[in-house]
Amino acid sequence: MKNNEGATIGTGQKLYKRAKRVIPGGNMLLSKKPEMFLPDQWPAYFSKAKGCKVWDLDGNEFIDMSIMGIGTNTLGYGHPEVDAAVMQTLSAGNMSTFNCPEEVYLAEKLIEMHPWADMVRLARSGGEANSVAIRIARAASGKDKVAICGYHGWHDWYLSANLGDDKSLDGHLLPGLEPKGVPRNLKGTVFPFNYNNFDEIEALVNTQDIGVIKMEVVRNSGPEVNFLHKVRKLATDRNIVLIFDECTSGFRETFGGLHKKYGVEPDMAMFGKALGNGYAITAIIGKRAVMEAAQSTFISSTFWTERIGPTAALKTLEVMEREKSWERITQTGRNIGERLRALAKKHDLPIKVHGIPALTNFGFPLRDALKYKTLITQEMLKKGILATTIIFVCTEHTPALVDQYFEALDPIFALIKECESGRSVDDLLEGPVCHAGFKRLN
Ligand code: PMP
Repeated sequence: MKNNEGATIGTGQKLYKRAKRVIPGGNMLLSKKPEMFLPDQWPAYFSKAKGCKVWDLDGNEFIDMSIMGIGTNTLGYGHPEVDAAVMQTLSAGNMSTFNCPEEVYLAEKLIEMHPWADMVRLARSGGEANSVAIRIARAASGKDKVAICGYHGWHDWYLSANLGDDKSLDGHLLPGLEPKGVPRNLKGTVFPFNYNNFDEIEALVNTQDIGVIKMEVVRNSGPEVNFLHKVRKLATDRNIVLIFDECTSGFRETFGGLHKKYGVEPDMAMFGKALGNGYAITAIIGKRAVMEAAQSTFISSTFWTERIGPTAALKTLEVMEREKSWERITQTGRNIGERLRALAKKHDLPIKVHGIPALTNFGFPLRDALKYKTLITQEMLKKGILATTIIFVCTEHTPALVDQYFEALDPIFALIKECESGRSVDDLLEGPVCHAGFKRLN
């Protein structure tokens, strides 16, 4: 500890120091590491969350204009109707020797929303749902080799893409993921391809015995020249199982999968994140011929039978459908994107705004981009706003709050412009620069 540091740092940072002694890496999710936001200064832990507000351990209140639980809460934190449904389940009992009926209702609802699908399995995390999908798809295709595009979780099957060449997964959301502990024998089973590069995926299919293609429908920018339709046709022609990983894209632009917007139907799709509005529930949906392969392998887990997840999902879907939440968050996200561009223009700064509107991210194509990102987080935190360069929009982000966000951001863009004109950004930063991607922490 630096001299007298204890007197100035918040309770959250003190707890995080304790955490690093007992939890390798300090926490469970890379994206919520304080170092990803503001090393040594990020409040790190919450005592309470409601709507789009979060309170830290010292009782400070913040407006969350950042990752909103990393995309879990499109209806805001602690949605009253979802919470009430969960409370009812709690008082009736969350677990028993019998199965919960909600899993059947949820499966039926997801099929109704995606008429191309006939069957559903449920899990509790996105990575798990991805592993389940890969197992079923490999069983159905009878082949080992998978082509992927995007981020699909932490499991062996996916990280094996980095065996031998640890840059394979760069550009697929998280750079630098290390595959230590992943059996070397898995090398040559997973082949990444770049989004919108049809020649690349076609060449892969021509040279490798690919049985499964798994991809995100959209990450940073949308499909060009019928990319998704071409991948669909390729998969159909070659008898390949096509999987859309909608863990992040689902429920943000359509009621269900983003693929509905593009009119392309996969053989399987996964949902996670927003499905339970903050409660743990993920789903794998698919065509009967593929999904029935689940019967020829073993996929089974104790807590996939608890009742809170499906209860929360059913109520979340009901509220989403009634409120057309995907339209509202898209509208808000579009507005945020336009205003970011306008603000950059006002300060004569170059900016790149990406992503589906309800998941807007931006960056400055400048040498000091990471320092500027850190500066934004540092200065916005002082104004009671959690902010980075990515905004997961929720229905609680009212026009007034968006105005407040931009009022706070305006002078920071001005500061960044000053730095581009010679002022030292290092002098403005009160701590270390934030991390980008995966890094070993001590
Ligand atoms: N697939 C996609 C597309 C994701 O964005 C994520 C999470 N960022 C995952 C899978 C993994 O989900 P989880 O973190 O719940 O395991």
